[in-house]
Order: sequence, then C-alpha cells, then structure tokens
Amino acid sequence: MTDQTTPPTATGPRPDAETRVPDGERPAATCDYCGRPFVDEHLHWLHVGEHHGDALGPDERAAHEDALEAERDLLFFYQLKVAVALGLIYSTTALSMMFILG
Ligand SMILES: [Zn+2]
Repeated sequence: MTDQTTPPTATGPRPDAETRVPDGERPAATCDYCGRPFVDEHLHWLHVGEHHGDALGPDERAAHEDALEAERDLLFFYQLKVAVALGLIYSTTALSMMFILG
C-alpha cells in the first residue's frame, strides 16, 4: 500500500507506507541505491548487502559483513534467552505439579 499524499523524495522512489518516515522525524540512514529510510545503520547495511549486493564496493561489503556478524550475535543471544525461559517454565511447571499431586 502506498501513501498517495507523500511527495516523491529526491534520493529515489517514494517509500511505501511501511517505510514512511513520520513527520518531524529523520531516518538514521537512507539507502543510496533505492532511497529507503532506516531507523539505524545496522538495518541499513543489512538491507544494502541483501538487496544491492552486486553493486557494493569493498567498504560497503565490509560494513554489510559487520552488520551480518552483529545480527548473528543478536540472534544467538535471543535464542539463548528463549531456551532459558523455556527451561524455567518447564522446571516451574514440573515442580508445581510435583507439589500439587504430592
Ligand atoms: Zn536499497
């Protein structure tokens, strides 16, 4: 879905409704290839590497690799937190059933 009231940007195609920057806010980064705005540099470099990987120079490729490594670290810690939470839920449930059922 596109926002018909937003004028086209000077840097590229008009962002769709999902990527439209609210009034009074500025994106932390904007894609040089398609003009899409991002809330932080990390997401910007992930997008650039994934969608414009064939056109990247060495510095951009290095920034994309750094963003990928950071993403892997974040995903690892997220999975670790989920595993700990599931373990706590399972052990709490098992202990509660032991006390309830005697
Ligand atoms: Zn782009």
